[in-house]
Amino acid sequence: MARRSRADRLERVRDKRKRALVVGSAVLATVAVLSVAVALLTGSVGTPADAEEIDVVALDAGVAEATLTVDPSSVTTMLVEVPDVTGLPLGEAELLLGIAGLEITLLSTPPGEAATGTVLAQMPTAGERIAPGSVIELVWADPDATVAASGVVTASASDTRPPGRPKVVCIDPGHQARANTAHEPIGPGASETKMKVTGGAAGAVTKQAEYELVLELSLELKKRLEARGITVVMTRTANDVDISNSQRAKIANDARADLFVRVHADSSTNADISGVSTLYPGGNTWVAPIEVRSLAAAKAVHAAVLASTGAADRGVVKRADLSGFNYATVPSVLVETGFLSNPKEDRLLADPAYRAKVVDGMAAGIVAYLGM
Ligand SMILES: [Zn+2]
Repeated sequence: MARRSRADRLERVRDKRKRALVVGSAVLATVAVLSVAVALLTGSVGTPADAEEIDVVALDAGVAEATLTVDPSSVTTMLVEVPDVTGLPLGEAELLLGIAGLEITLLSTPPGEAATGTVLAQMPTAGERIAPGSVIELVWADPDATVAASGVVTASASDTRPPGRPKVVCIDPGHQARANTAHEPIGPGASETKMKVTGGAAGAVTKQAEYELVLELSLELKKRLEARGITVVMTRTANDVDISNSQRAKIANDARADLFVRVHADSSTNADISGVSTLYPGGNTWVAPIEVRSLAAAKAVHAAVLASTGAADRGVVKRADLSGFNYATVPSVLVETGFLSNPKEDRLLADPAYRAKVVDGMAAGIVAYLGM
């Protein structure tokens, strides 16, 4: 790119911002509507049951657990200030954010009256202080984007890679054969700690171990996704491993995964409870950059699993307390595939035909989220 004088460049940016204003406002209005939708959805979630790091959760049906939040003052990580890249050509925005040590996700929108190829909006906004390596969402005027009749933009949304590169999904089969009860901070720089990883639940009737069940589901899911041309990175392919929940998230981050999918099964002291829930990260500063995309993925995966299995709907649930989410810098979901404490669902989860339905649902939801 030819070098330009600073005054030239500033003038050019100012000019482009003016032109971007109309479409930019429309985009921001859309973001506001989405935020309201998120608030509505998170206000109406079902009862969260299992947690990754807890073997058995005592539950009373109908008693909703409040969304857990984490005190931001417990975060001691060095933060970086988000630069203002709105109005800049995409290439320059990527360069600036790269220098600041931040990651990028792109959301495409047709150029309209805006200058093609420029950034129309960014989230988080300029001046916010966030953890290094956090993802900045850029809405840009993509010449290849089209608007469907529904008004939904279809393009290479959420694609952080050059065109033609395969999508990457990181699958984490929950737990492992032997728990590691040593503690780790629940998020980067947190003073609050939690067990590194637990052994998981066991079937009420079949006695099948959660860590074995979810590995088998995950390996089948890997096959389904690879058949669709998706690159799959596994956090584990054996049961006898020692990988903490934070390490699992870091594997997904290092893979620059388009989606981090954690596979679990649920348990409750109430054997009557059954059904599927899908968890997503939200409600703390660590996961703020991935919350919106994670919710979108959770909704897609949850709907597809319910459709495929016919299981009871236990909702899409926001969680701020899971280490396996709090270290993630890529969109993340956790599928609770059913209750091992429920005799009927335990038997279903031991049945290859039902397991195939669970896997088909997860694969369909992931593919839908990735826009493939
Ligand atoms: Zn679990």
